[in-house]
Amino acid sequence: MINPLEYGQSQWQQILHDYDASLRSRMGELVQAHSRGLAENFYQQMMDLPEARRFLEHEQVNRQLMASMTRWLEQVFSVHEVTQIPAAVERQFEVGRVHARINLPINLVSAGARLHKKCLLEHVTQRWPVPADWLKAATYLVEVIDLSLELMSLAFVSKSERKSRAAEAYRLHNLGMNLSVERERQRASLLDWSQELVFALHQHETPPTALRHAEFGLWFHHQAVSVFEGAPELEQIEHMLRNIDLQLLPALWEAREHRTAMAESMAALQRELRALSYLLATLFDRFIELEHGRDTLTRLLDRRFLPAVLNREVRLAMRGGGEFSVILFDVDWFKQVNDNHGHEGGDMVLQQVASLVAGSVRSSDFCFRYGGEELLVVLVEAGADNALAVAEKVRDKLMNSELSLPDGKRTQVTLSGGVATFDGHPDYDQLIKRADRALYRAKAEGRNRCLPG
Ligand code: GH3
Ligand code: MG
Ligand code: MG
Repeated sequence: MINPLEYGQSQWQQILHDYDASLRSRMGELVQAHSRGLAENFYQQMMDLPEARRFLEHEQVNRQLMASMTRWLEQVFSVHEVTQIPAAVERQFEVGRVHARINLPINLVSAGARLHKKCLLEHVTQRWPVPADWLKAATYLVEVIDLSLELMSLAFVSKSERKSRAAEAYRLHNLGMNLSVERERQRASLLDWSQELVFALHQHETPPTALRHAEFGLWFHHQAVSVFEGAPELEQIEHMLRNIDLQLLPALWEAREHRTAMAESMAALQRELRALSYLLATLFDRFIELEHGRDTLTRLLDRRFLPAVLNREVRLAMRGGGEFSVILFDVDWFKQVNDNHGHEGGDMVLQQVASLVAGSVRSSDFCFRYGGEELLVVLVEAGADNALAVAEKVRDKLMNSELSLPDGKRTQVTLSGGVATFDGHPDYDQLIKRADRALYRAKAEGRNRCLPG
């Protein structure tokens, strides 16, 4: 798989190479002169599409979009040096990731690009009346816009894939797919293989099936690789499988006529199998926790489900005109808890804070472990006043609670919170950012308080 950044850079370099500097700089000037008008035209035309209107209606989107569209046009046509390319490529990726986050249909992005090309080509026709020059300028124009679009799509697709995997994990978790059963089955199939191996050795006829082709190996290559995608243990297990099949097994078969050599080879192989089995068990255990959608320490929802939950709430709110809010909590002076009572004490305090928060909201709400000692609560169908009242209730309850420590002593901690209510902006990241800014103010104003964003 080619590195997207390298790919984007090489393509952009090719464009710089293919078109001379004076053409590019004249195009830059042309775009600069018309960028505002192009952005306005873009907005008006897109507002005619009902599908696009949903994303653009919000007043803040309008304001931001006008500015960012103007900037985008000017930036892509002002790349003249190789040193400018990495940042330009990264910007297209970022745009693609934003599009994916807000679920912007990719056809709307293409429609927008087509619109820009059409308008810009009219300007190009006036600026380069000689056909040969016109053709060169037009090709340059189309190449820059198309490459930008392609790079956005690249990031869009990879972000969407990750999002749908998280959504899929969430779905599986809801369906209750049973990894615990699978764990036992695979433990047994490793054991089966090792017994067959002993049997084959005594028969002395055909060498035993390679582990890679036995039931375990097949399961590993076709199922585990997707179930545990991205887990570092996978590569280690793969390595162990190869070591067993290509080194240990042939050595054992070779030594089968010699008692001591065979015993040694067998011991080495059994050691590797035990290590493999242990690694597999660790992997399963970790994913069983994750599959339940819960963070291991706090038992709150894992952060990777946040996009799935917020996307759904945004969709519901946009469709029904309802409201929802988020509260971002951060434990005050938590470093001191660790300093005074050790990391174990810190963990124990954090667990109790999490369970107090989860126990103080409705069962329809969602509590996430957002970061180290940051918790994020999604309050469904709750407006700003309601959400602030909930945040205050939680804060007050914690302030008046005594928490246990590992040594049996008790301690107290406080929380600060930032509250933000959905305001129609389709990008949930904006909502979290508002809550984060409010949290920051709550900290700055002295902590142990909750503020609206
Ligand atoms: P404040 O938020 O009030 O500004 O101060 P703070 O001391 O809480 O500062 P900050 O939020 O920046 O730091 C949080 C600390 O929490 C840093 C980290 O060592 C600790 N922490 C994060 N996650 C865990 C965890 O899972 N267990 C324990 N024991 N400590 C954690
Ligand atoms: Mg803190
Ligand atoms: Mg913190």
